[in-house]
Amino acid sequence: MAAHEELLQNALRQRGLRVTPDRLHVYRLLESSPLPLSIPALVEEIHATGMNQTTVYRILELFTAMGVVHPVLIGHGSVGYELIPPFRHHHHHLVCIGCNEVIDLYNCQLEHRIDEIVEPYHYKIIYHDVEIHGLCPKCQAKEAQAQSNGD
Ligand SMILES: [Zn+2]
Ligand SMILES: [Zn+2]
Ligand SMILES: [Zn+2]
Repeated sequence: MAAHEELLQNALRQRGLRVTPDRLHVYRLLESSPLPLSIPALVEEIHATGMNQTTVYRILELFTAMGVVHPVLIGHGSVGYELIPPFRHHHHHLVCIGCNEVIDLYNCQLEHRIDEIVEPYHYKIIYHDVEIHGLCPKCQAKEAQAQSNGD
């Protein structure tokens, strides 16, 4: 069994909760997805197992409360869920506001800088969240073409 799955099992047991096939299934879907999964996408993936939408919602709520997942914006105000450390490597998102492409950035060098910025407030930092929004090369090309057409 994957090391991360053991972490999940321990976290559930610590709360007196059972490791149900449904919980494990949702976890595995999140783990195998390279991008944050929206609720409709999760429901579609799960449809074949006979799990209903309410169960998916409940599991996501539980996982959020447990610190297993967090909701992230995936463009145009829609929300996706993804695993957070220690279930997944710390990373940030580069989001295209044109086509909603999301790229994971793993090379985070912000920790030290953030410590400096918050130093005067004497906070103990638990985590940080940064999303960078822009236009991908394809959307930049589209925009340039629209402009040259006098749009
Ligand atoms: Zn784009
Ligand atoms: Zn991500
Ligand atoms: Zn970071």
